Amino acid sequence: MSLVEERARAIFERYAIREIRFPVLERMQLYARSTGETTDIVEKQMYTFTDRDEGETAVALRPEGTPSVVRAYIEAGFDRSDPEQRLWYSGPMFRRERPQKGRYRQFYQFGVEIFGRPDAACDAELLIMIDELCHDLKVPSSMEINSIGDAKCRPAFRTALVEWGRAHWDQLCGDCHSRIERNPLRLLDCKIDAKLAESAPKSLDYLCDECRMHFDQVKELLTAANVKFVVNPRMVRGLDYYTRTAFEIMAGGLGAQSTVVAGGRYDGLVETMGGAAVAGIGFAIGVDRLALALEAAGTTPDHAPDAAIVALGAAATRHATAVARELRASNLKVEMLSPERKMKELLSRASKIGARFAVIIGDDEIARGVVQLRDLKQSTQREIPIGEAARAIADARGV
Ligand code: ATP
Ligand code: MG
Repeated sequence: MSLVEERARAIFERYAIREIRFPVLERMQLYARSTGETTDIVEKQMYTFTDRDEGETAVALRPEGTPSVVRAYIEAGFDRSDPEQRLWYSGPMFRRERPQKGRYRQFYQFGVEIFGRPDAACDAELLIMIDELCHDLKVPSSMEINSIGDAKCRPAFRTALVEWGRAHWDQLCGDCHSRIERNPLRLLDCKIDAKLAESAPKSLDYLCDECRMHFDQVKELLTAANVKFVVNPRMVRGLDYYTRTAFEIMAGGLGAQSTVVAGGRYDGLVETMGGAAVAGIGFAIGVDRLALALEAAGTTPDHAPDAAIVALGAAATRHATAVARELRASNLKVEMLSPERKMKELLSRASKIGARFAVIIGDDEIARGVVQLRDLKQSTQREIPIGEAARAIADARGV
């Protein structure tokens, strides 16, 4: 997890995106208004309780980050004073789910939200950034994109979906029966009969000229940047404020929970939440899943120390502390082993933690200004002046 977080943070900074932090607990109302009454999250996944304040406010553990970011953006007055903002966040999210591999009740997300940029270049920049992150982490992944139109052209698509849903009523699940009226786009999300969705109307066939041009431009910019993607006409974001570009990144080795990044444009959200009409686009990375994908790809980082320090006796322990500090100052990963064990135990411990070298220090070594450097990979040992230890260990890296 920490590698994913470290790399994501570094990339966001390279893209000049600033960090924002917000509370873990928010008013429940916030999610009803933004995430949406008809989503799984609000319908059944939120952890909520009533606060014992005068108003008996209903509060919820945050199930996602976007609503809080939009709330903070509007409260700071950015929508009117300085609408172009690039923000990222990270932290735990909470959803009442059936726990399984890649699906937890507390999980971690990294997210980005960009406001005030309705242009296709912004969509492309975000997707290029995600592609860069996946490459950086060496996670085999695929990108799917779609456009779901806007307030102008989506009503016709919506109507077509409702008609299609009615015509296939008997084949739809119970959830979908209630979705038809409330949120027909989510018919395409039905997990029960994915095949059926193949015969459903496609949003791309209903795009107005502006939305089509926007989508074409996103594709063109991605192609120019050498980013591989496929258009998935079945992918939807089931809320009214979502517009145009929707995307998902899938990673291998995760079974059913393969989506590691999901996002899209939400040009209507700031206004829906009481702000000015400002464009927005964002995504969230499922950090736990991305970490699982790293593991599956065998690209997890090596935590093994470069050296384990073996100190024999009280004087050697004091001395070894200084040696460890020096080695760490040379950027080496160093672990001091317990001075209260025997040499044999210590060497086997050094092997067990995967250390490349054991640096052995006893009274005799202190007196002569040397250390015993034991190469645990090649099972060799030599005596070297203390000042040369760092260089010798660093030189052996990757050998
Ligand atoms: P799913 O269809 O898998 O339930 P979602 O649409 O609920 O995903 P989003 O709300 O778009 O997911 O969240 C973005 C990302 O966060 C997901 O793609 C996933 O990687 C991660 N994620 C969502 N829910 C969980 C969870 N319960 N446990 C772990 N990761 C999660
Ligand atoms: Mg979900």
